[in-house]
Amino acid sequence: MSAHDAVSVIAAKRDGHALTDGQIDWVIDAFTSGAVADEQMSALAMAIVLRGMDRREIARWTAAMISSGVRMDFATLRRDGRPLRTVDKHSTGGVGDKITLPLAPLVASFGLAVPQLSGRGLGHTGGTLDKLESIAGWHADVSAAGMVTQLENVGAVVCAAGSGLAPADKKLYALRDVTATVESIPLIASSIMSKKIAEGTGALVLDVKVGSGAFMKSIDDARELAETMVALGADAGVRTVALLTDMSTPLGRTAGNAIEVEESVEVLAGGGPSDVVELTLALAREMLAAGGVDADPATHLADGRAMDSWRAMIAAQGGDPDAVLPRARHDETITAERGGIVAALDALGVGIAAWRLGAGRTRQGESVQHEAGVRWHVRPGDRVRRGDRLFTMATQTPERLDAAREALAGAVTIADAHDGVDELAQPLVIERVTVGS
Ligand code: URA
Repeated sequence: MSAHDAVSVIAAKRDGHALTDGQIDWVIDAFTSGAVADEQMSALAMAIVLRGMDRREIARWTAAMISSGVRMDFATLRRDGRPLRTVDKHSTGGVGDKITLPLAPLVASFGLAVPQLSGRGLGHTGGTLDKLESIAGWHADVSAAGMVTQLENVGAVVCAAGSGLAPADKKLYALRDVTATVESIPLIASSIMSKKIAEGTGALVLDVKVGSGAFMKSIDDARELAETMVALGADAGVRTVALLTDMSTPLGRTAGNAIEVEESVEVLAGGGPSDVVELTLALAREMLAAGGVDADPATHLADGRAMDSWRAMIAAQGGDPDAVLPRARHDETITAERGGIVAALDALGVGIAAWRLGAGRTRQGESVQHEAGVRWHVRPGDRVRRGDRLFTMATQTPERLDAAREALAGAVTIADAHDGVDELAQPLVIERVTVGS
């Protein structure tokens, strides 16, 4: 008989005690094998949301989730007989966050290997795999051996995590999603870092979002999450640095799937929205530094080498980089009811609208509309006149337009010119967090 049981572990956390290493190892293992029931793990997750976990507990919880599955190892990667360094980035998720698409091939074009295991969208935040699947022929499933070949030949692979990687997290995340237990710093940090450490990257750059469109609404919470993840990475021997970046305003000009691919390709061609370019370059600089490369990433956006790398990455996974992207059959424009200066563009409202138009899913496993999404024509600081276009909504199913219009109703705040809009401007990269910072 085991020295532990689920009810005692739940009660210990409910009463505010720190869990022992033995309790943590046991509960993760027993949950993965099915011996701890979903309702028991849900109760424990809620107790953790309410009571928290200390650094030792979080580190142990993360290690136990890594041990629930396989750990990948890219130490033997070679190109031209020389070892290849791996570096990855992870974003905590936001609206219009298409940065992985230009970033992975850009960094790979400097000779680093980028093994990017990505997810699908759930709720109002989009998923990188859903976006890439709007490219004809592209597939997200790549075997471990296929990843090695692609990293050695092309340098970047963006694909779905295999079922053997941190299975405890996969099971727990599905429960948290339906029991209001996602928003917990210990649970988010351990969830993200268990997957990233199991993935076997040598270095990791974290983009921790803060603002209305992010899980972390306050800078203090975002900083704590970043510090926790950076410490977990360092303890596991993964060089980890985090940038805290603004997600009160959505990134770029589009939220959806195909329309975000289109915007990413513009960035790879040397154009694109300035905020997407700025964040891509800020994260690329961190990744290049972490991988020991001293270079200015902007040069490869300008000279086409990042685009060549993108085309090779897409083609390696069956995609046609020249394929015309799908377009929605129905669209509708929303215009300004008054003139003035755009004081705010709310990321959450835009994300919910894109999701309601069909770009996201309400249940795991549902298919998404690759054509659906929202395009915004203004950003904070822009001057608008009554009747100017604010948004274009696009969908395959026009019955969704009403609900999306409702989500966008308060998403733009228009102020009079003298309302101090300039003082509201928030820098995109707010802070950098490293070990001991
Ligand atoms: N992303 C994850 O992978 N896990 C979380 O808990 C939150 C965001």
